[in-house]
This record gives sequence, C-alpha cells and structure tokens, in this order.
Amino acid sequence: MRLSRSFVPTLKETPAEAQIVSHRLMLRAGLVRQTAAGIYAWLPAGWRVLQNIEQIVREEQDASGAQEILMPTMQSADLWRQSGRYDGYGQEMLRLKDRHDREMLYGPTNEEMVTDLFRQGVKSYRELPQNLYHIQWKFRDEVRPRFGVMRGREFLMKDAYSFDLDHAGAVIAYRKMMLAYMRTFARLGVQAIPMVADTGPIGGDLSHEFIILAPTGESQVYFDAAFEKIDVSTARYSFDSEQDLADFYTTMTTPYAATDEKHDAAAWAKVADKREGRGIEVGHIFYFGTTYSEPMGLKVAGPDGQPVIPHMGSYGIGVSRLVGALIEAHHDDAGIIWPDAVAPWRAAILNLKPGDTGCDRLCEEAYAGLGGNALYDDRADRAGAKFADADLMGHPWQIIIGPRSAAGRRVELKRRSTGEREEVSVEDALAKIL
Ligand code: ATP
Ligand code: MG
Repeated sequence: MRLSRSFVPTLKETPAEAQIVSHRLMLRAGLVRQTAAGIYAWLPAGWRVLQNIEQIVREEQDASGAQEILMPTMQSADLWRQSGRYDGYGQEMLRLKDRHDREMLYGPTNEEMVTDLFRQGVKSYRELPQNLYHIQWKFRDEVRPRFGVMRGREFLMKDAYSFDLDHAGAVIAYRKMMLAYMRTFARLGVQAIPMVADTGPIGGDLSHEFIILAPTGESQVYFDAAFEKIDVSTARYSFDSEQDLADFYTTMTTPYAATDEKHDAAAWAKVADKREGRGIEVGHIFYFGTTYSEPMGLKVAGPDGQPVIPHMGSYGIGVSRLVGALIEAHHDDAGIIWPDAVAPWRAAILNLKPGDTGCDRLCEEAYAGLGGNALYDDRADRAGAKFADADLMGHPWQIIIGPRSAAGRRVELKRRSTGEREEVSVEDALAKIL
C-alpha cells in the first residue's frame, strides 16, 4: 500500500482517553477508532493484524481436527430458555425484539446454538467425537468497557465446542485444544501460561485460562519459573496420539500456575522458583459435561441402542483482545514492535526524498519486489516524521532509501525489534525480508 493514499490516520499526540499503552498505541498507529463505548472500527492496518491473528488461530484449530463453521451473531431467546440460561444471564446480554415482537439477543457466546445444531444433525455414537468452531463477533454489555479492544463490548472470539461420548473422550478433546492453544500462542510470538481456573458447579480440574504476562493485566497471577523454560514451538506433540497428548498435558500442568481466584497458598509454598505478576487472559478452555446437552435434549444412539448424552467442552480465544495483548507484550517508547507473524506489513519502505528520480525508482523497485508485503511511505513529509511513524506502526523491517545510497542501489535496512541497521543492496534487503 502507498501511504500517501492510505487510510492510516496516525496521531502525534497521546489520546487522553487511553489509560494503557496498547490502547494508546492502537489509536496513535491508526489501527482502530472507537465508534461507541467499547465498540471499535478496524482501520486498514488494524484489520490486517486482526486477520493475521485469526488465520493462525484457524490453522491450529484445523490442525487439531476441529471443523470451522459460522454461526450467526443474532440468536433466538427460545434456545436460551431451553438451557435455562436466559433469565439468569444478566445485563451483559443485549436483548432485543424483532418487528413481530419475538425476543432475540446478540450472542455473547454460542453453547446453546451449537448444541441445537448438533442435535439436529447427529444421531449415532459413530459420528462422535466432533469439535465445531467459529470465529465470530460477540456482544457483551460489559459494566466497564475499558482498555480499548481488551475489554470491548463488541469483540471477536474464536469459540470451539467439543462433543464426546463420555468423560474420557472429553478429556482427550480438552488436551487437544490445550495443545492447539499453546501452538497458536507460540506462533503469535507470545508466551501464554495455562492457569487453573474455576470450574463452577462442574468441579474437577478441567478449566484453564491462558495468560500473557503484562504489567497492565487485570489478574494477579502466580506461577513456577519452570514455565519460562517450556518451549512448545520446538516440541512436536501429535494430536492423534493419546500418549503424546497425556505427556504434553503433564508438562503443561505440573508446574504451579494460578490466578488470584484459584491461588493455593500451601501449593505455592512448595514452589522453589516463584514468579508473580499481572496477566491478561487471552483464552479459556472448559469442560462442562452434560450441562447443556442434558437440558437441551441432545442424545445420540449408543452402541447398544440406548441413548447417550454427549459430554461437551467449550474453548475460547479472544482474537481481538490479542491485538492489544500482543502490543502490551511487544512495544518500546517509540511504538509497537510487531512479531513477524502478525505484522500488518512485513516492511515499510521510507522514501527520504520523493521527487528525486533515483530515490523514486529504487523505492518503486523495492515496493514491486515485496508484493503486498510492504507499506510504501511515499508522502512528501520530513524524513523525521517518516522515521517516527514507521517506528510507531511497528513494521518488523524498514527499508530506508535516500538519494546518496540510491545512486549505488544500496538501502539502509533496519530491524525494528533490535534497532540494528545495515547498509545492503536492494536485492539483499528483499531477500532478507522475504
Ligand atoms: P473475562 O474474565 O476477561 O471477562 P470471560 O471469562 O468472560 O473473560 P470467556 O467467556 O471465557 O471470557 O471468553 C473467551 C475469551 O474471550 C476470553 O479468554 C477473552 O480473551 C475474550 N474476551 C472475553 N470478554 C471479552 C471482552 N469484553 N473484550 C474482548 N475480549 C473478551
Ligand atoms: Mg467476562
């Protein structure tokens, strides 16, 4: 994209309404704009990041064997009456009526709808297990929307729902999702730690929140430093091997890790190398047995012809919250430092003297060579403003082209994360970036 013709409204001033760094940087870098309390429009750069995250989430869900569907945002209140949740859900649910006076709601989550779809389509135990997911906008009328997209009212979530014949099957589904999540976060360039979370009336230990550490996180967290040494990105556990899944689960759940609500002083006392801090919840996985399948009458015929009530779990990732969380984890005083995998563009090309034939020509060549992976700063601005905007927007690479270097087909290549600069040929720069 050419910056001179792009809708990337960067701000020099710090917006007064933003309390935390990711919110400030998202506004300053022109990623989003608020359109109503807790509701955001995604502008070109922000939308590209959101789609990159979504795609990584999708690929890892698919790899785990989950199937993508798309359920509507609007739901009928009747479904929620069947599960018994309609009246109790409270004010977070946005309730509305259509022109025929039918009660509707904007989905805050989809357990009811997916259970309904599944009971219409599946009849026999032979069709289980299955896991269905979608990536869809949710609405929750949060009491205090804040921190930009981190706690919005409208937000993008990946939610998956597993169906198994029994508890043992559901445990396998649960472990697969934990593996998919750890791979997802590793690819996104952040370390997320699974922490024991509340299971509510179900009991047991099959509920984990995935927490990214950041000083501005909403939860206080405690964990064993052993987590700092676990590298999931190099360990290739298989989704199809029960033994692999069990080993992986042991690795991820043996060291102590808990949020405030589940913190256990006795267990904590035994941890040799303690870490504590603030954390952001970016995902949550949960086994809830027959909580929805039973009241909603989801049954399949078992091997002996007797009806079996499937055991379910649900698995959420805050896709839009992750944009803010990634910035919390990757920034400096000058701006965002995007991990390569999610950056809106892999590189920015900074033309230090638009109108200079040599500069223009080499910039155009680099721009063409990078295909859709570059943002070309061709604006007739001061060099200083271009440097500041490129740092603010956080492109992993900057190709800086001025008249002097252009004459020898040389460019300055800057790596945003380290600040390292080197003078190289334009060919070498492109090869490095691609
Ligand atoms: P929280 O405790 O932060 O309100 P939750 O327990 O209500 O989260 P879930 O229902 O488990 O969240 O939703 C799955 C994921 O969706 C969460 O892990 C989080 O990343 C994301 N999420 C939840 N609420 C919001 C929100 N208001 N804005 C953005 N993302 C959210
Ligand atoms: Mg909530």
